[in-house]
Amino acid sequence: MQPKQIKRISPNELRFVWNDGRESVFTTDFLRMHCPCATCLHEREENRRQGLFSLPIANQTELRSLELSGRNAIVVTWGDGHKTGIYTWEYLRTLDSLR
Ligand SMILES: [Zn+2]
Repeated sequence: MQPKQIKRISPNELRFVWNDGRESVFTTDFLRMHCPCATCLHEREENRRQGLFSLPIANQTELRSLELSGRNAIVVTWGDGHKTGIYTWEYLRTLDSLR
């Protein structure tokens, strides 16, 4: 499974068109809140344990750039400089099915 096209359709929305014809539109807020890096995973885990729900602050969800990482993932650089999250195609499809 891989995208045929990735397009930024608005300042805060990305659209993936997959090779099976499916389309996924993700908001940058949603992607940042599901950042797969170890730091963010740990933070979300901690918040859950404490019953906290943290909302991202503005520049954290501002998409500064998007780069391919190998053949099966993208790396997003966020407005606050965070860029350790590697979003694999598989992960993105999983996120898509969560909504
Ligand atoms: Zn992260």
